[in-house]
Amino acid sequence: MIRHYCGLFGISGHAEAARLSYFGLYAQQHRGQESAGIATWDGRHMHEHKGMGLVPDVFSEETLSGGLPGESAIGHVRYSTTGSSAARNAQPFVARFQGMEIAVAHNGNLVNTRELRDHLEERGAIFHTTNDTEVFMHLLVRALRSMPLEEAIKDACSHLRGAYSLVILAGGTLVALRDPLGFRPLALGRLDDSYVFASETCALDLLEAQYIRSVEPGEMLVVRDGEMTSHRLTPLPDAPATPRQCIFELVYFARPDSMIFGEQVYLCRKRMGWQLAFESTPDVDFVMPFPDSGVYPAVGFAQCAELPYEHAMIRNHYVGRTFIQPSQSMRSFGVRVKINPVRAMIEGKRICIVDDSIVRGTTMLTRVKKLRELGAREVHIRISSPPVKFPCFYGIDFASRGELVAAGHTLPEIAALLDVDSLHYLSIGGLMRSVAHSDSYCLACFTGDYPVPCCEAGKYRLEECPGDR
Ligand code: SF4
Repeated sequence: MIRHYCGLFGISGHAEAARLSYFGLYAQQHRGQESAGIATWDGRHMHEHKGMGLVPDVFSEETLSGGLPGESAIGHVRYSTTGSSAARNAQPFVARFQGMEIAVAHNGNLVNTRELRDHLEERGAIFHTTNDTEVFMHLLVRALRSMPLEEAIKDACSHLRGAYSLVILAGGTLVALRDPLGFRPLALGRLDDSYVFASETCALDLLEAQYIRSVEPGEMLVVRDGEMTSHRLTPLPDAPATPRQCIFELVYFARPDSMIFGEQVYLCRKRMGWQLAFESTPDVDFVMPFPDSGVYPAVGFAQCAELPYEHAMIRNHYVGRTFIQPSQSMRSFGVRVKINPVRAMIEGKRICIVDDSIVRGTTMLTRVKKLRELGAREVHIRISSPPVKFPCFYGIDFASRGELVAAGHTLPEIAALLDVDSLHYLSIGGLMRSVAHSDSYCLACFTGDYPVPCCEAGKYRLEECPGDR
């Protein structure tokens, strides 16, 4: 299973800032289920509430109506990609410095955290958490000693390498920015007279806010006293000329009803399925997805291939985090409890299954085995993204390279491992034909071409480790 990472929300100048942040996070719960938090500014002080668990578990009516006063707020849902899942790593991260109160929430992964921490610790910094956000906070407050807020944020960002979308509340000023290559999404919206920011537009839709546009890669938007100004971050040295937005947002992570990077996720996924069918359609009785991730490419696949589309695997929508994990001897139980095949649809049938990706292959193997047990005559697998062969250092929790099934096996070997009659992954060309801005995506987990070098990435492709430049 690929883990999601984090979701951001920010709003300025609204009497219901905390409550709207709650709903903004609620809509983005799929981006992180470990912890949630909101920080608000009441004109004099910062207030914060955060905790472990899902958004509705962390916030009560009492908290929202009295504990988080103010008209500006930022919020965060988290799945840890760096730092442990401990409560102290929950965000937003709030700091007080020379009479100023600042809250920061971060989505993404820095690749030079270790170097920055060492550098800061040598100069006396003390860290309370293990997350990237505190590193940024230290850089920011150091810069604030000698420059105004906008310049200090730019200066702090100039030291960062990797993926970061940030929302920052500094006193009553709300700042939203994306790193120069724009790995992680961030959308700008308008609700009445307020500016709203969210990782995904599904949050704006829930609030009935108007989607204006994406925050651009390398852009910093500053909202102060109801006015918004746009600024540019310092470009990375030796960086690719075009953005490197995470293609996996479109393949898997984002909600299909969201606009991400200016693209409608639903349509992109359908086009991926269409391209996949164009590249390789087996002779089968019907096409089916593994729900939910395979649903949208499967629709496109079936339409292009002119094959019947069926839902022969049913998802249990009520499996939550409180589900008691099975013992080792019941390992496949966790997979089976989530989806279950419709017996009558399987026996004697030639089936083409469409899914978005294969990471370790263990889940796919369990599901295929079940279809065989139920008498499927043929099982063909079609994957709507290229093989994931390299780990991600920019905030997606894939397995390590040794665990990625496509890193160590050829296509026929994977087909044999999964016990399927045929297997085809969407080509990189097909994937790029599915999106509108094909020159602006990171493909490193497919190609090993890491757009921002780092030590660990260097093990696979890069010859030198520039470290903290
Ligand atoms: S390596 Fe893959 S998952 Fe990571 S940012 Fe790039 S496209 Fe996204």
